[in-house]
Amino acid sequence: MTDLPHVANWVDGAYTRASPASIAVVNPATELPVATIDATPRDVVDAIVTRSQQQFASGAWSHAEASDRFAVLVKAAALLRSNLAEFVELEVRQTGRPVREMQTQLARVPEWLEYFAGLARVHEGAVTPFKGPVVNTLTRLPIGVVAQITPWNHPLLIATKKIGAALAAGNTVIVKPSELAPLSVLKLGELFQTAGLPDGTLQIICGYGRDTGKFLCENAHLARIDLTGGLATYRAIAPVAAYNMIPMTAELGGKAPVCIFPSMGSDMEQAVKAALFASFIASGQTCVTGSRLLVHADIYDEFVALLLLRTKALRVGDPTDPETQIGAVINQASVERCSAFVSRAVEDGGKILCGGKPSERKGFFFEPTLIETHSKSDLSCNEVFGPVIAILKCTSEEDIIAVANGTDFALGASVWTRDFTQAHRVAEKIDAGVVWVNGHHLNDPSSPWGGFRQSGIGKENGREAYESYTKVKSTVLNYGVSPAWFDDKAENARYG
Ligand code: NAD
Repeated sequence: MTDLPHVANWVDGAYTRASPASIAVVNPATELPVATIDATPRDVVDAIVTRSQQQFASGAWSHAEASDRFAVLVKAAALLRSNLAEFVELEVRQTGRPVREMQTQLARVPEWLEYFAGLARVHEGAVTPFKGPVVNTLTRLPIGVVAQITPWNHPLLIATKKIGAALAAGNTVIVKPSELAPLSVLKLGELFQTAGLPDGTLQIICGYGRDTGKFLCENAHLARIDLTGGLATYRAIAPVAAYNMIPMTAELGGKAPVCIFPSMGSDMEQAVKAALFASFIASGQTCVTGSRLLVHADIYDEFVALLLLRTKALRVGDPTDPETQIGAVINQASVERCSAFVSRAVEDGGKILCGGKPSERKGFFFEPTLIETHSKSDLSCNEVFGPVIAILKCTSEEDIIAVANGTDFALGASVWTRDFTQAHRVAEKIDAGVVWVNGHHLNDPSSPWGGFRQSGIGKENGREAYESYTKVKSTVLNYGVSPAWFDDKAENARYG
């Protein structure tokens, strides 16, 4: 471990070691450590929050002109674009996701910075229709020091979405990336510095969630906590955030249904490709993984036969090979979780159609798995976060809608039909933060992203995300109302 490169926290514009303690970052495809990172203790976390408060109060960024914020974020986007290869390499190494996936995903990440730069530049206040000779202006102000707790599955995309929105609005940001895949996010510090962001405005600190993440979220001086992660993590953070009156955004898990209707029978290839993409991209490790395929009985047999052929042909392997379609899962715990879901599904009467076990190659790999099951099974209701997919035969449109809405999650869903009226009807009835019609995983910085019920609170992307990083100030300017109270003459005049 001593020969490994150590990537320290990014604090006040420099890589700064928090303490002698360190954590190894492991390449899931090889099981070998690739670097070490800091395990930031509470006193250092608290000192960084204090320093960030001072930075916010200095006004160097919080009072910067909108045009200056715009310029910095646009420059950061350009730098990210020109250094994409380096970021792709880091993402592949720390997540085990295929290079072809990361190239495609990362090529779009700069757009988030450009979008929020644009919002910062064009954002206008408002004047209310206040009665009388009064002008009431509403202005949006940055809120302060914000904590962003991010996961390992899309390390750079998710951190950049959050950082872009918060910086555009003028805040000071402390990011705590996942200890499993923090390396690409740690690189953002230097990139923003080169783009002209004042030092201390973006701090990136590492450590385990149960320690460093917890220490950060327990600090009462934060203005907002923005988490993407699991429900258990939300439940660990939310009580203390509520006690400290710190608002939270929570982007949590999902159990996205992929609803396939009979009219897709005219284009079965398309339906099967849709399911493959929805279910197996990122080895099923996205919050909107199409983890439940709800297929209408009229086309079920034909669909499943074709899907099986295509699933068995997926190329699982070395993520650095451009031909590889399916990479690793994040760690051994994930392999074991996938195996446990398979065992429970089988005990519950499920039938393994393909896969069902860890791959034999070295590394944390799990075979793309399809299991025929029923709508109340553990596999149908709970998040696997891996390539283990439930297939359910449904008898009608109503049945598909009922099953789609039948879990505690409500994040993403897709509807595949060639029937225009059915598309509208079903999309309207599905309870999810994002419903795609004839698409899945489609994402854009302008499109609000976030779930209902146990899938989360609040939104990423769009105006909603930007505004969540602001506070509204109402300024009431009187240009004609005289103070009347406790002035007998004026009061008598008013009531006489
Ligand atoms: P996780 O909840 O284990 O970790 C997320 C982050 O929280 C990490 O940085 C971790 O260190 C930190 N953390 C853990 N415990 C903490 C605590 N007590 N206090 C403060 N911080 C703590 O999640 P993960 O395994 O990294 O990511 C997978 C989960 O994220 C899945 O449930 C997935 O659905 C969800 N996710 C949701 C979205 C979305 O947009 N809704 C996107 C991606 C992932």
